Amino acid sequence: MARSSVIVTGAASGIGRACVHLFTERGCDVVAVDNDRSRLEDLARAPRADGLAGPGELVTLVGDVSRQETGTAMVRAALERFGRLDVAVLNAGIGGTLPWEDEGAIARLDEILAVNVRGVAIGIRSSVPALRAAGGGAIVVTASSAGLAADPGNWAYNASKGAVINLVRAAALDLAAADIRVNAIAPGLTETPLMARHRDIPGLVEASSRRVPLQRWGLAREQAAAIWFLASADAAYITGAVLPADGGLTAM
Ligand code: NAD
Repeated sequence: MARSSVIVTGAASGIGRACVHLFTERGCDVVAVDNDRSRLEDLARAPRADGLAGPGELVTLVGDVSRQETGTAMVRAALERFGRLDVAVLNAGIGGTLPWEDEGAIARLDEILAVNVRGVAIGIRSSVPALRAAGGGAIVVTASSAGLAADPGNWAYNASKGAVINLVRAAALDLAAADIRVNAIAPGLTETPLMARHRDIPGLVEASSRRVPLQRWGLAREQAAAIWFLASADAAYITGAVLPADGGLTAM
């Protein structure tokens, strides 16, 4: 994997940011894509400043993954800067379901599906020609334990993550002949900015941790390590798989 060329979406925060650190630390060149310009600029400065980055190079690209022009631009950036594409980590995702009766609920569903499903479909189809040209490669999608077992009060997000899991399986079947492996991780509760508003509710972290067999939330770098494994040659015979990284939550 050293010196591989890797795209990471949703790269400015949480799990995506941990992937940028891990992959560059281990010598990969990374195109980091996010729609949050200021956090992306912070990422571009931070790796050098906090000593986390390794020998890999980092290029940043501001864009919305639900738009085809972002898919096209991120692959072009990898090819222009690094000459090839080996791995696409399609991680950008949003949550925040509204109550069923809320007037804006369906508009919110459309927004969530646009990022969590359409954005992944765009990421896959945009990457395929470059991965084919490289003789094969790996796509890793960040799904969720909420796509394996629904959690209450979260219907739009549950629907989007259930859909993306079957999208991953379908893509794996269609792309196997080109030696393009397509897999997903399904994180459980993970300490990232996405979860900050939950963390602030008194007692919630403790109560939710008690439901997890490993008795704690996961860390962004633990999710990045699972993504690294699926992207690496160690997973050469794995495609169409969904790897729960949830402390045992969905084993119950
Ligand atoms: P996060 O909010 O910390 O990071 C997500 C990043 O994606 C942000 O930088 C955001 O700006 C970016 N993003 C959002 N919409 C985008 C768009 N349209 N185009 C480009 N970038 C966009 O969240 P996180 O917790 O690191 O989540 C990453 C992934 O992990 C998501 O797919 C999420 O659903 C999934 N996940 C998270 C948890 C958890 O507990 N944190 C659990 C299961 C799954």
